[in-house]
Amino acid sequence: MAFFSGISIQKRDSASEADGGELFKGAAFIAAGVLAASFMTMEISSVLKLGLLAVGVVLCAVGVKWIVKYWKDNKAFEEFVPEWDKGRGMYDRFAKELNLWYEKGITPQDCDGDTAYFLKLQKERLDKKGLKLHESVVPSKGTSYGTGKVSRKSLWYTTDMMYENVSRKLSFENENGPVYERDTEMAMYEIVAHSPNEAQTQFIRVTCPNCGAVNSVSKLGEGCPYCGTVFQIKDLFPRVINLFFIRSNSSAKNGQIFRQSMTFSMSGVFLVMLIANIVRGGQPLPLILLASYFAAVLVGGFLGFIVADIRLVATLFDHDGMKHLPILKWGSSKRKIKNTMLRYDKNFSFDKFEGQLVSLVRMAVLAEKPEELACYRADAREPLFSDILEMTYTNGICLNGIRMEGNIMHMSVRTWWVNHYEEHGKVKKSGDCIDVTFRRNVEKQEAPGFSITSVSCPGCGGSFDAVRQKKCPYCGSEYHMEEESWVIEQMHLIR
Ligand SMILES: [Zn+2]
Ligand SMILES: [Zn+2]
Repeated sequence: MAFFSGISIQKRDSASEADGGELFKGAAFIAAGVLAASFMTMEISSVLKLGLLAVGVVLCAVGVKWIVKYWKDNKAFEEFVPEWDKGRGMYDRFAKELNLWYEKGITPQDCDGDTAYFLKLQKERLDKKGLKLHESVVPSKGTSYGTGKVSRKSLWYTTDMMYENVSRKLSFENENGPVYERDTEMAMYEIVAHSPNEAQTQFIRVTCPNCGAVNSVSKLGEGCPYCGTVFQIKDLFPRVINLFFIRSNSSAKNGQIFRQSMTFSMSGVFLVMLIANIVRGGQPLPLILLASYFAAVLVGGFLGFIVADIRLVATLFDHDGMKHLPILKWGSSKRKIKNTMLRYDKNFSFDKFEGQLVSLVRMAVLAEKPEELACYRADAREPLFSDILEMTYTNGICLNGIRMEGNIMHMSVRTWWVNHYEEHGKVKKSGDCIDVTFRRNVEKQEAPGFSITSVSCPGCGGSFDAVRQKKCPYCGSEYHMEEESWVIEQMHLIR
């Protein structure tokens, strides 16, 4: 994605991939060596024979040296275990915390209340099903790779969308042992808020890292009114405000596909030609070899190129069992949503909107009692949702329609997911679509640092947990989240 402007890449130290050029050089030297040595079978002077044999042996030795080097580099690359490095910054720090959460149940420190709440909901769902989820993410291996970052500055703070290809291991286990295991290559996205504008700290709301109540940054600097803890800005920022995974192959994986296809197809064509010509007979061996080399390079190379291309294109469309996504509609949906929303909010960012949507749906699906969430205003949830254990958003979203009712916008979208769910004690994977209708009051700008799990009452300013109660415990007025942010008014699963 590096061809979009405004993207910076932070490199990661990693074992380098073996150089495919060395493999090719090695093969070429050996081929030439074998050709020279093959003149042993011809009726020529023995001095010439011995000379050519010597040349052949030397060429083969050089070729073998290259191949051994390639093989060693490749082995070192395969055995290299990449690790997160806290010194690289927030992206790595939070990835490490995420692994610790799944391994030891330690709650991440560097994320906001909503992300931590989602992890807690997922654990409750798994506990209820008698399952344990082990999940670990490590950076994908390969040269020229690192963490991508797109920054956006708003009036209140800067938000970075950071992403990198990771290898993600998922395994589910019940009391009898593992029931499901899977390794996939994903892009892991972390949305990070940082560098708050000092002049705006009284308007920026964050959840208190200690008690979870929502307050302005300047108030937390004086001491949280609920738990009394005093925070400095560096305790509150940077913070991960959203996390999601999108299915995607790393460049190392693509390189491997390419080399593999070429090697197989070239050596395949060479062997077929060689055997066919020897069986047919009548030609001197050097000529047979030469003809086979030509066929291997020209025909085999061409075939290999085509096969590699087909395989690479296939991986682009292999979304891990994801349902078919109409690409044209997908492209125009993004544009339509953006254009419509920019009319109401000049700071509208599609990435942020998409991230919000992902967390809302995930929360509504994983909550045991969604009707208690202030962000869920739909009818009783369909029973199939209650078996979902893990959700991966695939970046697939199509707009079904936008309807205005006064200041209230109703937006219907279809979203594409790869979900893991439980059925009769087994864990299964499924490409699901979820149709969702959201609504919100578009006349009101969303407050920076808005939280789904912790809100501040527009009536009295009191902070309370909107996940468990819809009425403010201080002044009793009912809380309408659609006045501040998106809420779900309809949700339907298509499996
Ligand atoms: Zn507090
Ligand atoms: Zn109140």
